[in-house]
Amino acid sequence: MKIVVYGAPILRKVSEKVEKIDKELNKILDEMVDTMRDAKGIGLAANQVGIDKRFFVLEIEHNVKKIINPEILEFSEEVVEIEEGCLSLPGIYKKATRSETIKVKYLDENGKEKIEVLEGLWARAFQHELDHLDGILFIDRISLMNKRLILKKLEQLRKISSNS
Ligand code: ZN
Repeated sequence: MKIVVYGAPILRKVSEKVEKIDKELNKILDEMVDTMRDAKGIGLAANQVGIDKRFFVLEIEHNVKKIINPEILEFSEEVVEIEEGCLSLPGIYKKATRSETIKVKYLDENGKEKIEVLEGLWARAFQHELDHLDGILFIDRISLMNKRLILKKLEQLRKISSNS
């Protein structure tokens, strides 16, 4: 699978709900896990590989989660500001602000409903990937000053993206 880079219109689209969890979807999820590992990422959303549906994969400390139709039920008031990166924004790392803890609901790869409280890196990665499904990138959540600092890089990525 090919990871699409900043500038691709699909990264700014709101993805559609998954209606059916079948073998086909499980095959795609497995391929996404491989693609994420090859790229040394901890999360990958479907629209980053050109599929505008609401699912993503995460892998933190050798634990894989396959997340379908995710929702965040509760956000903690405590926020943390930590440096983030994105496989669709290669070479860009900036501090983004996010809730420290979240309560989430999603379907797993077997269609089973899960409700979990996530914290730390899991909470951060989940928020980052769910943003993707709503067409939001982490650079939308950084300071204006940092945004100014990466304008040139963004312009370069947009050129690469439109030539590929
Ligand atoms: Zn990302």
